[in-house]
Amino acid sequence: MNRAIARARRARERSRSNVSVDGRLLSKALDTSHRAILYLEDVSVSFDGFRALNRLSLTVDDGELRCVIGPNGAGKTTMMDVITGKTQPDEGRVYFGQTIDLTRMSEPEIAGAGIGRKFQKPTVFEHHTVFENLELAMKADKRVASTLFARLDSAARDRILQTLERIRLVADAKRLAGLLSHGQKQWLEIGMLLMQEPRLLLLDEPVAGMTDEETVRSAELFLELAGEYTLIVVEHDMDFVARIADRVSVLHEGRVLAEGSMHRCSRHEQVIEVFLGR
Ligand code: ADP
Ligand code: MG
Repeated sequence: MNRAIARARRARERSRSNVSVDGRLLSKALDTSHRAILYLEDVSVSFDGFRALNRLSLTVDDGELRCVIGPNGAGKTTMMDVITGKTQPDEGRVYFGQTIDLTRMSEPEIAGAGIGRKFQKPTVFEHHTVFENLELAMKADKRVASTLFARLDSAARDRILQTLERIRLVADAKRLAGLLSHGQKQWLEIGMLLMQEPRLLLLDEPVAGMTDEETVRSAELFLELAGEYTLIVVEHDMDFVARIADRVSVLHEGRVLAEGSMHRCSRHEQVIEVFLGR
């Protein structure tokens, strides 16, 4: 409970201003005054007549850590494709905050508006150091390009150091990213997303292939990030989901079958049937 309250407070503080930590004006005002940061309403996507999403509706609150679970083919990845502009829905509404209509924007515009996505496979620059990876991610952010040509100013360095601490890679800052463990690469990629100051992070199976210890540390990291950021995590590891989620949405055949606490969802009769494969 205390965790949820602290999180809501951090989210409120952050949404009050559209100015980033180093004083830049964020590109487009995100209006979360009604608490929600993401709305999907009656979203449908068909591939050759097959409905991958079938009037899917989902609302995620600002600062929430939402887990999305569901069997293979349920539409989880397609949902992320719709949010990030990779796939256009046939019908339905997709809003970022109250006012930003994501269906009218390109993929780069959506990323620039503050939605970061991490795919399953880590894509770090293996031949650069961990520090350089974060630096490159920051410079790739078009909103800072004009002020950051060559040398990093101290605010930018501070941001990189803060991010290194967050993703537990301070001691590895000078190592080549290619030498990191699988789990560390995943954290680095999350760090690279954070450098672009997103508001919403979409993570597709972020702990797949991690060791138990890395999984525990990932849970800690996501719990730290929630509140300041909103996280949507697609994950198959139910213990992990139970440990981190504020709320769980169970997707099945392109729509939400159940929603609420992991405990509640796992007692839902239809959910049990689906997961037992009946
Ligand atoms: P999940 O991520 O939950 O496993 P997906 O969103 O990847 O599910 O897929 C939902 C359904 O849509 C699946 O049946 C899949 O085969 C189909 N699908 C996804 N993308 C495409 C595509 N580009 N073309 C044709 N069918 C697709
Ligand atoms: Mg998928």
